[in-house]
Amino acid sequence: MPLSPEQLEEIQAARATPQPTLRAVSEGMEAHLYTARPVLDHGFVRVIDYMGDDAAIVQAARVSYGAGTKKARDDSGLIRYLMRHWHSTPFEMCEIKLHVKLPVFVARQWIRHRTANVNEYSARYSILDREFYIPAPEHLAAQSTVNNQGRGATLQGEEAARVLEVLKADSARAYDHYEEMLSQDGQDGLARELARMNLPANIYTQWYWKTDLHNLFHFLRLRADAHAQYEIRVYAEAICDMVRDWVPAAYGAFEDYRMGGVNLSAKGVEVLRRRLAGEAVTQENSGMSAGEWREFEGVFG
Ligand SMILES: Cc1cc2nc3c(=O)[nH]c(=O)nc-3n(C[C@H](O)[C@H](O)[C@H](O)COP(=O)(O)OP(=O)(O)OC[C@H]3O[C@@H](n4cnc5c(N)ncnc54)[C@H](O)[C@@H]3O)c2cc1C
Repeated sequence: MPLSPEQLEEIQAARATPQPTLRAVSEGMEAHLYTARPVLDHGFVRVIDYMGDDAAIVQAARVSYGAGTKKARDDSGLIRYLMRHWHSTPFEMCEIKLHVKLPVFVARQWIRHRTANVNEYSARYSILDREFYIPAPEHLAAQSTVNNQGRGATLQGEEAARVLEVLKADSARAYDHYEEMLSQDGQDGLARELARMNLPANIYTQWYWKTDLHNLFHFLRLRADAHAQYEIRVYAEAICDMVRDWVPAAYGAFEDYRMGGVNLSAKGVEVLRRRLAGEAVTQENSGMSAGEWREFEGVFG
């Protein structure tokens, strides 16, 4: 179960006691506040707090651009301009604090994003729950033969059943040994900080993760991408839904210029120009490597 009864009670209590505030409020985000969005088999992501909204981005930008900008562009146009021209600091005026429950191997990818503030559940102080990520059968895929970092066809039949059995049995055995090794009431046994070392990377951990909107967009750009590993992508997609409701104009600009846009090299621009002029350009006369050409053709081919 992603949330314990105590956590559910806390969420209900927090949502039942709204307080009046003079601070900027995003109606879309208020609907998400504290509630948990289930992710994977035992994980979740929920918003604990946030600061700012689309207007806060505009307000910060106008400090640098002055009142003249107000007449020239509407708020959404200004946000799109900022995104388009990589004027990123106004986006840093918005902040978000998330509570995330995730498998340790996903946490290892996530923690590489160094520009966030993190506070993780301590397995030195507390005993980890018996909760392991076991992929749903449709996500039990073989190693890709064309992409070293990707997946191929889904395992089928007996092979799928065997792999699932191995995953479940190994997780259960490791947790049984963890419990056996743990110190009881401070007497005998192994310390929690040591007993945890035999636990597999599919066990769940939890953390509070706080970041600003600029760095969150960077995270989402990499982790909500179709090439990101499925197990982190589903968290990123859940966060995308929240951000869309929080700052609709900024999210719209992000979707357009970052998620949906492409970066072109100077060679790529040149090939496009030559093609538009009617020239038949191939990889051989493009100046691009085979890999570059494949990626270029993937977008414009
Ligand atoms: C598809 C994919 C595959 C990956 N494969 C691997 C892999 O095989 N091995 C591996 O180790 N990692 C891998 N990574 C992790 C990747 O290298 C980055 O560590 C991760 O994506 C975080 O990106 P970041 O450093 O830009 O983010 P953040 O740490 O959030 O930093 C955001 C930005 O802040 C700036 N910044 C932050 N810290 C510094 C600093 N110390 N110095 C200078 N600038 C800084 C940079 O501009 C950076 O882009 C992979 C990531 C992806 C998305």
